[in-house]
Amino acid sequence: MKAIIIGAGIGGLTTALSLHAAGIAVEVHEAAPGLRAVGVGINLLPHAARELSELGLADDLAASGVATEALVYANRHGQEIWREPRGRAAGYNWPQYSIHRGTLLSLLQTAVGERLGEGVLRTGRRAIWAEGGSVAFADGSAARGDVIIAADGIHSALRARHYPQEGPPVWNRRVLWRGITEAPAYLGGRTMVMAGHGDQKFVCYPIDPGAGPGRSLINWIAELRFPDRAEWRREDWNRPGEPADFLPRFESWNFDWLDVPAIIAQASQIFEYPMVDRDPIDRWTFGTMALLGDAAHPMYPIGSNGASQAILDARVLAFQLATRPTIADALAAYEAERRPPTSRLVLANRGEGPERVLNLAEARAPEGFAHVTDIISQSELQAIADGYKQIAGFDREALNARASLSPLR
Ligand SMILES: Cc1cc2nc3c(=O)[nH]c(=O)nc-3n(C[C@H](O)[C@H](O)[C@H](O)COP(=O)(O)OP(=O)(O)OC[C@H]3O[C@@H](n4cnc5c(N)ncnc54)[C@H](O)[C@@H]3O)c2cc1C
Repeated sequence: MKAIIIGAGIGGLTTALSLHAAGIAVEVHEAAPGLRAVGVGINLLPHAARELSELGLADDLAASGVATEALVYANRHGQEIWREPRGRAAGYNWPQYSIHRGTLLSLLQTAVGERLGEGVLRTGRRAIWAEGGSVAFADGSAARGDVIIAADGIHSALRARHYPQEGPPVWNRRVLWRGITEAPAYLGGRTMVMAGHGDQKFVCYPIDPGAGPGRSLINWIAELRFPDRAEWRREDWNRPGEPADFLPRFESWNFDWLDVPAIIAQASQIFEYPMVDRDPIDRWTFGTMALLGDAAHPMYPIGSNGASQAILDARVLAFQLATRPTIADALAAYEAERRPPTSRLVLANRGEGPERVLNLAEARAPEGFAHVTDIISQSELQAIADGYKQIAGFDREALNARASLSPLR
């Protein structure tokens, strides 16, 4: 069997490694003219860290990412609403990693080159059409395989052919500014923070394990909601952002444990991105072609799930292709296993996912609180956190007990 993968993002590269490990031949075609390690920070939840570990990348991840130990939700005054341990500190058998997207991409690209051979990954190949095992590229070339995997991201050309009426992604009136700043470490140096509420939020987490004593390379996201009429520019992960567009709104967010305006002001680079997703769809597989990752289920970057879900897709698809009698059976099993939970996740993220606790605190105590339990009970906080983990597939007991997705060969 030979698989043609379209797109060399986190989803496409993990699929290539997983199929190769399962004994299936692979070609990867990427539209970009060269391999670029672009993006800022990204999170790998324990279920995704498990899959990359089972692909033999545990040591590389440990050397390149920060093993996140805690997640803290705070209001816009810096008061703690909820805190929970993360990764191994929470009893998972695998860590949660915060890592630079470019570092993760480089790590995956290196592994693909070493294991599959350098010629397997071809750049400058923009797919425009796929049918019956054939893919056509914008430069007039073509490729043929037994199965086509469309991992070509939120603007997937191959998805668009099957959903021609879908149009551009859906914007929810919020804009994200994403940046990286070297700054003093906060809350022990391994803590992810989400502060504010649905209309104005600041998220940050350290991403470099080698930043030096007492220092962190902090990945951060400042988020603002705009009035209903506001128009924004088309999403582009690489569009530079201007601090003047959002820093004034965060000037007073200097908590005694985190200086938000200083972090924003001292950023080395800032990118601007409208928060977009797409409606869940009722079909991911068409003949011998399957959608995967953001091409299948683009979701808001809430709950740290985009890359993790693409990695899970890759592993499940490879497992099914390696173990089912026919490609049709495998694609049907892949879709049955992955489409329902990721569709629920897209919708859960529209409802703020686990970040609902921020809105509850803002609605019930906009000027702050003496004790958080005066406004939200411990059981309500716990229920929100637990519910999201189940939807996102990283419930601790279920994940630790689940059988491996590495097919026995
Ligand atoms: C440039 C870039 C920067 C990003 N930065 C961040 C970030 O900082 N933080 C974050 O949380 N998420 C970021 N993301 C999104 C994140 O990587 C994804 O949500 C998640 O990892 C799922 O990955 P994916 O492989 O499904 O899609 P993507 O990561 O979007 O990868 C899709 C790949 O397909 C390629 N492609 C697109 N169209 C075609 C085509 N027609 N033919 C061939 N190849 C094609 C793209 O160039 C890309 O390499 C970024 C995505 C991109 C593309």
